[in-house]
Amino acid sequence: MRTEVRSFINVEEIEEHLEKNSFPSRERIEEIIQKSLDKNRLNPDEVAALLNVRDPELRELIFEGARELKKRVYGNRIVLFAPLYIGNKCINNCVYCGFRVSNKEVVRRTLNFDELKLETKALVNRGHKRLILVYGEHPDYNADFIAKTVEIVYSIKEGNGEIRRVNINAAPLEVEDYKKVKEAGIGTYQIFQETYHPGVYKKMHPTGPKADYLYRLYGLDRAMEAGIDDVGIGALFGLYDWKFEVMGLLYHTIHLEERFGVGPHTISFPRIEPAIGTPISSKPPFSVNDEDFKHLVATLRLAVPYTGMILTAREPIEIRREVLKLGVSQIDAGSNIGIGAYSKEDKEAYKKSQFTLGDTRPLDVVIKELAQEGYIPSFCTACYRLGRTGEHFMEFAIPGFVKRFCQPNAVLTFAEYLADYASEETKEVGSKLIKKEINNVEDEKLKETLRRYYERVLNGERDLYF
Ligand code: SAM
Ligand code: SF4
Repeated sequence: MRTEVRSFINVEEIEEHLEKNSFPSRERIEEIIQKSLDKNRLNPDEVAALLNVRDPELRELIFEGARELKKRVYGNRIVLFAPLYIGNKCINNCVYCGFRVSNKEVVRRTLNFDELKLETKALVNRGHKRLILVYGEHPDYNADFIAKTVEIVYSIKEGNGEIRRVNINAAPLEVEDYKKVKEAGIGTYQIFQETYHPGVYKKMHPTGPKADYLYRLYGLDRAMEAGIDDVGIGALFGLYDWKFEVMGLLYHTIHLEERFGVGPHTISFPRIEPAIGTPISSKPPFSVNDEDFKHLVATLRLAVPYTGMILTAREPIEIRREVLKLGVSQIDAGSNIGIGAYSKEDKEAYKKSQFTLGDTRPLDVVIKELAQEGYIPSFCTACYRLGRTGEHFMEFAIPGFVKRFCQPNAVLTFAEYLADYASEETKEVGSKLIKKEINNVEDEKLKETLRRYYERVLNGERDLYF
C-alpha cells in the first residue's frame, strides 16, 4: 500500500501555534525551560513559544537550559560514529541532492562486496565501532541487498576490533522488507522527512517514489510495525522555515509516542550543504544562519528531552564545537562520504559525493579535542548488544542509568580506543581524563569494579561492558 489515509501534520494548526505564541514573556520561557529540566516532553504551544524568542538575552536562557539538561541527564559523554556510503545510484530527483537521477555531473558508483569489506576494515583500523550505512534509492539497493551489506560489515574482524552497531539511512520500505533488514541486526533506521510542509515537499521531490509525501511520513511507522524499535527522524534545514520544521519534528515525535508508546530514538537536523551539479544546494531557499541553527538545536533538546541528538560533520568545526554543548549526544568523526574513499585515497571523491563536509578532521584529532574539553568519547554499544533497545530513553527515564551503565561503558570503550588506535598525544590526554572520571564515580563498589575492568582493558581484554 503506497498511501496512508491521513497525515498527522496539520499545516494550519502548526501555523496557529506559531502565531498564537508570537511574543512569549520571560516568565513563560523560564517556566517552559523548567518543565523540560523536570524531564517532560514539551507540547506544541510551548515549543512554538521557544521558537519565537528573538531577544538575545532570552535566547541565551534557552541555550543555558539546553546545556543544563544535557549535563544533568546525559553527563559528559559523546557517542562517535562514521557514515559509510554504499552506493549513490538513485531514481529520485530531490532538487538539493547531488545523487538525484537528473544530475549528470555525479559519477555513479556502488561498492561491491569486496570493496565493502575493505572500507569496513579501514574504518575498524581507525577505531570505529559504530557505523551508519547510507544508500541512494534504487532497485539495486533493495532489502536483501541492504541486509547483505549489514551482514558483511558485522563479519569483519581486524586486530582487536570490529563494528558492533550498524545503523541505516535509506529509503522507506514495506513492513516485510524492514523485517529482513532487522534480521541482519541493525540498530537504528533513519529516515529524514526533509520538509514537513507538504506543498514545499512536492516542489523539492518532483519525481520518483520519494515524491509520495505520506509514504515517507509513515515510513518509520512501518519500521516500528516490523519490530525495529529504534527509529531516527530528521529534517533537512534550508528547504522551508526552520520554525515550521522544528514543529514538524515535534508532531512526528508526538505521533510516534501516541501510536507506539515510544518516541524517536534520535533526531537529526542537517543543514543543506553544497553538492556537485546542484545549484540550489549552494543557495537554499530558507538558508538557516548560525544563530538560528543554535536556537533550533537548543529548542529541540528542550522539546524532547529523552531523545538522542545527532550533529554531523556537514557542519564546520567551529559550529560543531558550539552546538555540541547545546545537547548533542552523537557526532560522526573522521568521516569521508566519497564512495570507497576510506580504503583508497581518491582525489576525485567529491565527484561521487552527495555534498561537501565541513569537518574533515581525522577521528584521532576529534577525539583528542573532545578529551581536552572534558568530554568522554564513547563507542558504547552495550544496550544494543544486550537487547536493551531505546537506550536513549533508558538513560533518560531510569534514575541512575547513566551513572551505572553509560558512563562506565563510555570509559571502557574510550580506553579500548586509546590502547589500540590513539596517537601518543591523544593517549596522554585521554588516560588522564579516564583516571579522573573513575575517581569521580560516587558509588565505591562501582568505582572498584570499573577500576578492575579498566585494568583488564589495559591488559588486552576487549569488549567488556556493564
Ligand atoms: N536516499 C535516502 C533518502 O533520501 O532518504 C537515504 C540517504 S540520503 C543520501 C540521506 C540524507 O541526506 C537525506 O535524507 C537528506 O536529508 C540529506 N541530504 C541530501 N542532500 C543534501 C545536501 N545537499 N546537504 C546536506 N544533506 C543532504
Ligand atoms: Fe536520492 Fe536520497 Fe539524494 Fe533524494 S536525498 S536524490 S533519495 S540519495
